[in-house]
Amino acid sequence: MGTKGRSIVGMDVDELVGLLNKAFADEWLAHYQYWLGAKLAKGPMKDGVIAELLQHAADEMRHADMVANRIIQLGGDPVLTPKGWYDHTNCGYDAPEDPYVRTLLEQNIKGEQCAITVYDALMKKTRDADPVTYELALQILNDEVEHEEDLQGLLEDLDLMLDRK
Ligand code: FE
Ligand code: FE
Ligand code: MG
Repeated sequence: MGTKGRSIVGMDVDELVGLLNKAFADEWLAHYQYWLGAKLAKGPMKDGVIAELLQHAADEMRHADMVANRIIQLGGDPVLTPKGWYDHTNCGYDAPEDPYVRTLLEQNIKGEQCAITVYDALMKKTRDADPVTYELALQILNDEVEHEEDLQGLLEDLDLMLDRK
């Protein structure tokens, strides 16, 4: 833990670590939801959908890594058990019970929209208080905005294709 780096944070550090741990839990659950969805996906445009889901699964794990590093910098512990992800999550977990590509895309779009809300709120909270976390949230938010658009684009293509049969 860097003492000076921690001392410049202009808000309650425990509260900030709590918010970061909620985002951390979201990232792991999102990673698993994408990863498993990619394994199970069935239906039209399956190959394109699977490639996108796998890319996003990797991005969500990278986000978990980034958030964990910030939690540790602040002197906190990242959520210590997978069970704890459920206690902390903002966005929850949507099991890919129906492997049809359209259903998977809809579930993951909902997850991305939740993630966008979470990082937008974290940026608002840290804008003046903690530029380091603010910058981290901005980097991740950029990815989540791209993820939402990627999935909505695939959904649109899928619907165009199905309508023209
Ligand atoms: Fe993410
Ligand atoms: Fe995402
Ligand atoms: Mg993508």
